[in-house]
Amino acid sequence: MSLILAFSAVLISCGRNGSNWHGDHKLIILGIDGMDPQLLRQFVSAGKMPNFAKLMEQGSFRELTTSVPPQSPVAWSNLITGMNAGGHGIFDFIHRDPKTMELYFSASRVEGPKHSIGVGSWVIPLGSGTAEQLRQGTAFWQILDQHGIPNSVFRIPSNFPPVSAKGRTLSGMGTPDLRGTYGTFSFYTDDPTAAAGAVEGGEIIPVQVENGQVSANLIGPNNTFRKGSPPALEPFTVSVDPLEAVARVSLANQKFVLREGEWSDFVRVEFQLIPWFASVKGMCRFYLKQAHPRFQLYVSPVNIDPANPALPISTPKSYSRDLEDEAGEFYTQGIAEDTKALSAGVLDDREYLEQARTILTEHRRIFDQEFPKFHDGVFFFYFSSLDLNSHMFWRLMDAKHPEYDASPAAQNGSAISDFYQQIDQVLGEVLSRLDSSTTLLVLSDHGFAPYYRSFNLNTWLLDNGYIKLKPDATRDSPEPLAGVNWAQTRAYGIGLNGLYVNLRGRERNGIVSSGKDAEALIAEIKQKLLQVKDPKSGLPVITRVDRASEVYQGPHAGSGPDLLVGYNRGYRAGWKTILGSFPADEIEDNTNPWSGDHCMDYTLVPGVLLSNRRISSGSPALTDIAPTILAEFGITKRPDMMGKSIFESGSQ
Ligand SMILES: [Zn+2]
Repeated sequence: MSLILAFSAVLISCGRNGSNWHGDHKLIILGIDGMDPQLLRQFVSAGKMPNFAKLMEQGSFRELTTSVPPQSPVAWSNLITGMNAGGHGIFDFIHRDPKTMELYFSASRVEGPKHSIGVGSWVIPLGSGTAEQLRQGTAFWQILDQHGIPNSVFRIPSNFPPVSAKGRTLSGMGTPDLRGTYGTFSFYTDDPTAAAGAVEGGEIIPVQVENGQVSANLIGPNNTFRKGSPPALEPFTVSVDPLEAVARVSLANQKFVLREGEWSDFVRVEFQLIPWFASVKGMCRFYLKQAHPRFQLYVSPVNIDPANPALPISTPKSYSRDLEDEAGEFYTQGIAEDTKALSAGVLDDREYLEQARTILTEHRRIFDQEFPKFHDGVFFFYFSSLDLNSHMFWRLMDAKHPEYDASPAAQNGSAISDFYQQIDQVLGEVLSRLDSSTTLLVLSDHGFAPYYRSFNLNTWLLDNGYIKLKPDATRDSPEPLAGVNWAQTRAYGIGLNGLYVNLRGRERNGIVSSGKDAEALIAEIKQKLLQVKDPKSGLPVITRVDRASEVYQGPHAGSGPDLLVGYNRGYRAGWKTILGSFPADEIEDNTNPWSGDHCMDYTLVPGVLLSNRRISSGSPALTDIAPTILAEFGITKRPDMMGKSIFESGSQ
């Protein structure tokens, strides 16, 4: 019955659009974050990726023009909407509010209830909190829905909370952990030399081992029911065996034993907000790094529980629970690979890799569960592994990297190629099931490059007189743009590629008039940036600077950065300048394990596009993908979509 209804809906809508879809055509899209064309060619030539070799030989392979700037949330939004950032409004991982100069994550906003009443130490919220997606524009699967084309979209980035949809969708990158962050791990230790407190992406928590017992708390979301919204806590204890390297963890009514070097499965945790009345559920994994002589216990970020999601993560709402029933527990946080724990030295290469491999295994398990169910319409599946692991292990395959070290390289230097080979195996599964009525697209959002050296854009702006600090300001305050004298500041950097003019009428204390003054300033800064050379290598640090007014179209074109700084391969915005700080040096070595990157000149880090069919377009772009998907089903693209089908004859 429902099939007939769906089919007639298709006929009606297709008729309206002059469709020639006959109901048996299918489209499979594998979205491989960060798959790089150079590395792909290299591994294919080495015989490591036979299925990609076959697809290249029998179908088409092109480089895929990425977004400006080439950051995943921007790039996937280009793919999702067929528009650039001027249309979908996502310009960077991080945006700023020009009225308050506060920074926020660009993809979504999670808010507690707006009104509440106080009773003693309790604050009773009126109404519930909300999560709001900030990406604008219509997603390609919503248009497919309007035309009755069945579709499933797994873990596509920039879709949290998921937009309303008729098919099965699961949110991906951008989905927070239970604390509302992009992932905050906890590390419990009695090591007195460990610096307690917050580190990037985590928290070091000092504990005492007394008579072999450790008592500690898991940290949950801020409890908005309590005055001052302190974090909700859930106590747990660990009994450490006095002789063996083994410990028993007790949490609520659960008990489990971990040997040193062992990971737990997901452990369910419930944080009480008001005893008996309000609680929120999550899940996390424990890793006993060391039992003796020092106690070292890592606990993953507390993920939203797919069986009882505290915030919406799927459509239909019941889908995340059904998927868990069928495919087992899975990480729901958007970026599940704990790169931050590796950067903080809490996990070492081997430990991080074990966790990262678990995630690919999990994604492959879900793929193997869902792919055989695909019989018509569109099936999109996303893999994160190549991106995160190319970020973390570039230093072990590139002797020119400042963090290259021969001994770890001998151990884990093949990590990136191993992950590429696993993706090749996934492609093998797909190729074996392709029939003549199915189109396959394998694509990435951007490529990859080494990240040897950091450029501290805000330090450069300060040194060149575009930023002025107040007389008593310190340069290395962790507060974004702290100490800036806005009355004498003409431009500032926020995010990985963004440079903003301190514009009168837009910024709270803007001083540069729009029009002639702003134009002259933009031209001057652009020209100077293109002349910056790295004294160490003699190479240009920046190879391209794009003006927002030239690269963006659409209603939001003016709400992002005024200039997009495109770094040369090997260079990227420094860690602290991204958040508006001023490290001492303009250029410095990148000594973080995060050693590969792509937030550069977008022409230097194209993605890949492969298909089993002949791609007509000579220079396809991410913005062509949504029109391609629609054209496959005879649907006319929306007028605000920029590109056109990659299969359209007469394409360049
Ligand atoms: Zn990335």
